[in-house]
Amino acid sequence: MKAWMRGIALIVTGCSSAPPPSVVAPTASSTVTWTQHDVTRPQPPIARATGAVIVPPPADATILFDGRSLDAWTGVNGAAPRWTVASGYMEVVPGSGDIRTKAAFGDAQMHVEFATPSRAEGEGQNRSNSGVLLMGRYEVQILDSYGNITYPDGQAGAIYGQYPPLANASMPPGEWQSFDIIFRRPRFEGSRVVRPARLTVIYNGVVVQDSRELVGPTSHGRRAPYAFHEDRLPISLQDYGQPVRFRNIWVRELSAE
Ligand code: MG
Repeated sequence: MKAWMRGIALIVTGCSSAPPPSVVAPTASSTVTWTQHDVTRPQPPIARATGAVIVPPPADATILFDGRSLDAWTGVNGAAPRWTVASGYMEVVPGSGDIRTKAAFGDAQMHVEFATPSRAEGEGQNRSNSGVLLMGRYEVQILDSYGNITYPDGQAGAIYGQYPPLANASMPPGEWQSFDIIFRRPRFEGSRVVRPARLTVIYNGVVVQDSRELVGPTSHGRRAPYAFHEDRLPISLQDYGQPVRFRNIWVRELSAE
């Protein structure tokens, strides 16, 4: 095994003895030298964002939520979603499970607005946790990160478990916030990854992820390798047990580069 392949294996699997399950071309941004959830990783600077950037959907967008119905979504195992809709927003019903889009998407531009509960409860990862999971597996973290310390790669705007946000752009609990996400899906040749997934995230108008190459899907415990999947898959919103609200969600498919 070449030296750089061993390095990638270590990055992807977190274990130097495991064989590389897939090989990612070595680029500067596809390497994560910090271990997952390292609490000694530097905390991002405070950006002093001023709140949600509200972007009405372009005419060619697919509307995922317009404040009125969950028609574009399914719940666990394809059942009707059990999240509530009221006053122009949807809200996580804790314990009801993630919801996912009926339609499937690959390369995409996505806009989503969210608000964490105004009465912040819990600490760290248990304070108003949710998330946007592109293709159901690449998570942009939602959390109340306003004065709530947690491991940097788990903050709001993090690519969960991989990259902290470049800045902490979080607003106080209860205020509406926004993500604008540009996502490029991974490319596979057979089961082999030939180009990693890539994410750009603008959080409340602040760039927090700049064309980041993901080292694999979101995982818990230790980092997981890429595993082959279809070119288009549903987008999920996470039920982590806290009543986070969402509104104005839309997506546009992106042409191939
Ligand atoms: Mg989450």
